[in-house]
Amino acid sequence: MNAPEPLSTADSVAPALTRSIHLLYVPTLNCNLSCSYCYLGTQTSEADLRADAGRAVATLRHALAALESAGVLAFNVSLHGGEVTTLPPPVLDELFALIRGHYLRHFDVLTALGHRKSAPHIKTNLFRFAPLYELFDRHKVSISASIDLPLALHARHRLTRKGEPWLERTLDNLRLLARYPHAKKISATLSAEHLTDIPALIDDIWFIHRELGVDMNQMNLMFAFPSALNRERMGEAVLTPCTPAQQLELYDALHAAFAGTELEEGLRRHWFDEFKPSYCTNAVNCGEKFYLLQSDGEVYSCVRGQGLPEFRYGNVYADPVVDILVAGAQKVAAVHAAHGFDAGCRQCSHLPLCNTGCPVVKRQNASGRSYTCDLQQAIYRDNPKTFPAEAPDEVAAYARDYMQRMHPALAIAETPALQSEAVLALPHELGDESNTLRALIAADPLLQALYRDDAFVLEVGDELVPLASQLLKRRNDWYTLTGDDRLVVHVRQELFDANCSEPVRNTLYLQMLRDTPVVYGDERRSKQEHLFTWQLHTRCLEASERMGEGWLMADLAGLVALHRRLYRHGVRNNLFFTTGYLRDYHYQKQKANAFYHIQAVNLPFQNFEFFYLNRE
Ligand code: SF4
Ligand code: SF4
Repeated sequence: MNAPEPLSTADSVAPALTRSIHLLYVPTLNCNLSCSYCYLGTQTSEADLRADAGRAVATLRHALAALESAGVLAFNVSLHGGEVTTLPPPVLDELFALIRGHYLRHFDVLTALGHRKSAPHIKTNLFRFAPLYELFDRHKVSISASIDLPLALHARHRLTRKGEPWLERTLDNLRLLARYPHAKKISATLSAEHLTDIPALIDDIWFIHRELGVDMNQMNLMFAFPSALNRERMGEAVLTPCTPAQQLELYDALHAAFAGTELEEGLRRHWFDEFKPSYCTNAVNCGEKFYLLQSDGEVYSCVRGQGLPEFRYGNVYADPVVDILVAGAQKVAAVHAAHGFDAGCRQCSHLPLCNTGCPVVKRQNASGRSYTCDLQQAIYRDNPKTFPAEAPDEVAAYARDYMQRMHPALAIAETPALQSEAVLALPHELGDESNTLRALIAADPLLQALYRDDAFVLEVGDELVPLASQLLKRRNDWYTLTGDDRLVVHVRQELFDANCSEPVRNTLYLQMLRDTPVVYGDERRSKQEHLFTWQLHTRCLEASERMGEGWLMADLAGLVALHRRLYRHGVRNNLFFTTGYLRDYHYQKQKANAFYHIQAVNLPFQNFEFFYLNRE
């Protein structure tokens, strides 16, 4: 067996991982079945399995390394087909080991981000489950098994490549799955035909749960949608998608059948997950977070967009990662824009949760509204605490923001302020992923130094407080200081080398502001009032015993107390920390890069906010 892949030496110099993404890996498009509703069309029979087997591991390894070099962490690497299990077992063994190794290498970051994954996940039709059981078990692979419900349709639509049914084998495999000791779930894709006999569908859920022993609380339902590739392959035999009324009929029937039973938790928590805000379909722009990689290096949005030019983002062997990520965000935005901002969505009290739905299905349905809108509304209605309705003014504000981001042309056309003489002229590239503050920082080592959140630590009394840039941190803590409090700043010595060839000339640079607005400058902006600026040359700092080697320190208690007459009762003071040369670099960067300037128009440095209790 392949053990998880070890840490490579490159990790010690890897850049900070500033962005995390969901990566679906399709090592082969080949499939051993020929399901009638397959959205991949003829790709599953035309795929070259031998070529895929030869490159499957290398491509994933290459992509993970390229992502990491660009500061991007794949927090979820799931395997999807075609049918992954058509690959030879040694290739699967290597893939599983690679993914487990990836999770272990990034264990700390993943845990900090709230992800608990440590085992590979695979979507499979179970056709080869029995011969691969031991391999899956060894790698603790989590399994999502696709079946048709009712099972009679499994026999009709889920046929082998020779066109033969294989339901009995599926039932045996489900019995085996019931005994499988690791994570597992069932997923079922439903078309209108699947819903012609809902009682049979309900009976089969119970049959699999009670007779075959698979815990059907762990099930996901999906709806088939019109796929151009499927239509090309199936012609008239293509299955009809469920109508919104049929989706609701199913929802109501399942609630009537399973409420109050041992499957109620699954019904309420998992079965309709795909239509809830945790899923990609509810992202504002899924092209910023979700990617599908094929073994030939091609990158698409996801399984739904696979093979469609509008959802092809690039190739990991030919294109820089940053270009692929930017293409994803732009292409998804373009599809949303092409289908307009639906009038119902604009006023929907759940717009902030839904974000108008999946762009691939919008394209397939030529509609601007989520294809499961009615179903989603029923889910929101039944879970008002989990999915609260927003007030109309909140919705209007959100709709304005959403429109500016996803429908910028519409926003300009519809916003009176933009049509009047007082035009706000923002360059359209401002919305590009590569121009976000985080992307600009990721691309510039000096900005990385300037924005570090591990370079300044403030000792306040007995507490050590790491300082972060006021522009990047997600929360603000306000302290109360008195003249008796210990207040020492510890700073990493290497920070004085950033943008400075002679650190002896560099300074620790502090600025104290007070939250009393003053109008400054040509733009007449109201800003916090500057109280004082203070610099201490590098050589005047002391070695920091508390933080150890590589750290310097300066005692600030006297400096802060000296200005006590400037601090007002109940008014916050805002103390910023940087070095003289990094401060210079911030202003140089502002001049050189308009996108940086506009986003860092407020002081970007690490800061500490406090009230001062003047006992005099
Ligand atoms: S295109 Fe649709 S299915 Fe694909 S990632 Fe985006 S929302 Fe999800
Ligand atoms: S109207 Fe429907 S599709 Fe539009 S935001 Fe609301 S729930 Fe989503």
